[in-house]
Amino acid sequence: HAKVGGGQTVSFFDAAMTRDLVRRREIEAELRAAIQRDELSIFFQPIVDLETGRIRAFEALVRWFHPEKGELRPDEFIPVAEETGVIITLGNWITSQAAKACAQWPEDVSVAVNLSPAQIRAPGAALGIHNALREAGLDPSRLELEVTESLFLDDDENTGRFMDELSALGVRFALDDFGTGFSSLGYINKFPFKKIKVDRSFVSGPNVGRKSEAIIRAVAKMGSTLEMDIVAEGLETVEQVNAVRDAGCNLGQGYYFSRAVPDYLAVMLLARERDEHEPRQQVL
Ligand code: C2E
Ligand code: MG
Ligand code: MG
Ligand code: MG
Repeated sequence: HAKVGGGQTVSFFDAAMTRDLVRRREIEAELRAAIQRDELSIFFQPIVDLETGRIRAFEALVRWFHPEKGELRPDEFIPVAEETGVIITLGNWITSQAAKACAQWPEDVSVAVNLSPAQIRAPGAALGIHNALREAGLDPSRLELEVTESLFLDDDENTGRFMDELSALGVRFALDDFGTGFSSLGYINKFPFKKIKVDRSFVSGPNVGRKSEAIIRAVAKMGSTLEMDIVAEGLETVEQVNAVRDAGCNLGQGYYFSRAVPDYLAVMLLARERDEHEPRQQVL
């Protein structure tokens, strides 16, 4: 061990690393049991048409209600699941649950599922998706798969095959968190994406301004020419909704519309929306 500073500094780092490792090991072991114990559930966040205000899809977001640690966010355990391979079992379970929920919704409402690169690179990756669709009896055109650019950093031959095979069935792909990674337009050119999700950092935070707005506008323009949907993520205020709509995004997602909610509340949001759009029955 190199001396970073005083002896105390070194042991501080060692202790922190050990703690981190222990926590990861714990999470790994518990994650395997959590599915059986029913501690995981899928929440659904609406993706809204910015012209009509209607819900076009829900994104499935996994939550872990841990008996001692409380609610764990995916950022805390998805990376561990990826490193340890648990993501394959977990990912198949998530896709199944999401497909079953979607099968209960009106036919024009889709479900979007996040896929980790490891899930796509695993042998027989498409099989998990086929099984989920078949078990739920869900039309493939109602399933969207969200992937991030990190997927393309190495091997893209298998990725291309996976995407082509599922696209041929009608499954749609979305490029998630666009603008945070390399944002190579080559990916959009090479792979069959139907949707781009512009990252939240273009909507709120220190880097929002004339430049970010011009970038959204350019991406939206490209998207509409290519007949792709452009989703703005992380919309929290009406000003942000108006700004991204003006910039040409056709879909939006964020706390302004709704947080991710359990499946029974997703059904209620849809029912309420349909009520509002039907002419009201006069009772008296
Ligand atoms: P993501 O796919 O970009 O999902 C959007 C994240 O932004 C979600 O966080 C959502 O709750 C949050 N969000 C939505 N609207 C707003 C808003 O208006 N303001 C703010 N501040 N945040 C908002 P969440 O659920 O914690 O998920 C984080 C990430 O974890 C996701 O980012 C996704 O990459 C990953 N993830 C979530 N569920 C799954 C899953 O089932 N499988 C895999 N592989 N990854 C998942
Ligand atoms: Mg996503
Ligand atoms: Mg995203
Ligand atoms: Mg994100």
